Amino acid sequence: MSAIAGVMPHIVPSPDGILTWDRIAAHVHDGGGYHSPTGLIELESTHNLAGGTIYPPEVIADVAAHTHAAGFKVHLDGARIFNAAVALGKSVAEITRPVDSVMFCLSKGLGAPVGSMLVGPRDFIAKARIRRKILGGGMRQAGVLAAAGLVALEESPKGLPRDHENARFLAEGLAQLPGILLDAAKVVTNIVMFDVDRRTTATALCDALRARGVLCSAFGPQTVRMVTHYDVDRSAIQRALEILRSIL
Ligand SMILES: *Cc1c(COP(=O)(O)O)cnc(C)c1O
Repeated sequence: MSAIAGVMPHIVPSPDGILTWDRIAAHVHDGGGYHSPTGLIELESTHNLAGGTIYPPEVIADVAAHTHAAGFKVHLDGARIFNAAVALGKSVAEITRPVDSVMFCLSKGLGAPVGSMLVGPRDFIAKARIRRKILGGGMRQAGVLAAAGLVALEESPKGLPRDHENARFLAEGLAQLPGILLDAAKVVTNIVMFDVDRRTTATALCDALRARGVLCSAFGPQTVRMVTHYDVDRSAIQRALEILRSIL
């Protein structure tokens, strides 16, 4: 971020990855003295590292109102915004209306092989196209990818409730396994984060699972992330839980 955009990210810790204006306000600087001036507030929903948590729409609206009053803009990292919208029972348009720009992924939950979109006002997108060129240019012959992206955008959101139900099913199964620490009530979208106790490590567990065809990621020394998606059904989750039980 510093090298390419000339900005200094300032990370604000928050429970479950949800920033409120109270938390942000303490970190806003006008550039006097030793701090770089604040120019942008960035939110992330659903929040990946916090385990797929969702911003309440009223919090996004409140942060945006305060941010705009302070004279800068709000960008939403909405890589998984369709998961948030489905879980809230609202449209993506409705929950993103207060912010100035949004990015979202056509891959991940929406299932396209590749692709992300940046959305914002026309003049902002014009500038973004120049930035994209600076970062390595656009793509010629991108139509085949765009076709897959259109299917992802138009067909996939209706399948996301199933991914969320599957994630809850997975979380409830995991919570019953020995050596696994997890609060199943925190699983609200398609991400399941859990800790393993000191008898193993996240990396050792993920390696053992991979050897038996179950793919997940170590997100910390003791923390594992599992994600449900289009290619994972109930019986696959049951199989994963059985394999996990035998490894543990
Ligand atoms: C994947 C992801 C991105 C970036 O998506 P790209 O398609 O790699 O540009 C940004 N933010 C979050 C939270 C992500 O999970």
